[in-house]
Amino acid sequence: MSRFDGKVAIVTGAAQGIGAATATRFAFEGATVAVVDITAERGADTVAEIEKGGGKAVAFGIDVSNSASVTAGVEEIVAQFGGVDILVNNAGVTRDNMLFKMTEEDWDLAVDVSLKGAFLMAQAAQRHMVPKKSGKIVSLSSISALGNRGQSNYSAAKAGIQGLTATMALELARYNINVNAVAPGFVDTAMTRATAVRMGLDPEEFVAAGAAATPIGRVAQPDDIASVIAFLASEDARHIVGQTIYVHGGKWGV
Ligand code: ADP
Repeated sequence: MSRFDGKVAIVTGAAQGIGAATATRFAFEGATVAVVDITAERGADTVAEIEKGGGKAVAFGIDVSNSASVTAGVEEIVAQFGGVDILVNNAGVTRDNMLFKMTEEDWDLAVDVSLKGAFLMAQAAQRHMVPKKSGKIVSLSSISALGNRGQSNYSAAKAGIQGLTATMALELARYNINVNAVAPGFVDTAMTRATAVRMGLDPEEFVAAGAAATPIGRVAQPDDIASVIAFLASEDARHIVGQTIYVHGGKWGV
């Protein structure tokens, strides 16, 4: 008996990084997983990985920042799998720039995907959780919520996730739906390494410096975050309501 046997989990931004690790973990612990990304093609590798391990997953293309796309996509998932038990809001975009250079487009994209996307997906998913009086919603915040130079858009979105989480948790608790957030610190993902390259740094050196600056002496791998997301989505965490759990190896702030 696995923790997520018979459960349907939606993971957004599941093509790579934390989302892919989370989708894979849910599947290997028994869930049927909707691998959501901006296109279904982008989710193909994650689905292949899950199927290789004997798990069940289907890729769906949903633009989480677009309400029509979210409504249609969630309905399609529910039609195919018969419901939704777990939602993980992981889709995100970084468009870093110092405040004086930050464009309106940079702002809108980062906030629309991370924050509005979490709101739209949660709104669509809870319609199928409330009647069953059962559900789990976990959204990705970040230590950037506490401030990070060059990320006014992303840090505002990730701080917003904490407020959205706290409020949705209070509204949905009476329906036995747990809503929580996870705030990772430095995670060794393609996104992190691409950021290093954009900053003109060697990605290996960037990761090594991150590890040296972290009290636990290493940076997180995607599965270090996925394991906490899975805990919050499990019955072990059924009394945790509206929290943001920092998973940063002891290093507060960026
Ligand atoms: P991390 O590795 O930290 O999870 P990534 O940038 O690798 O961060 O993952 C974010 C994912 O979110 C990517 O796969 C990206 O395609 C996806 N994504 C970006 N914008 C959207 C969107 N509007 N709708 C759905 N998924 C999106």
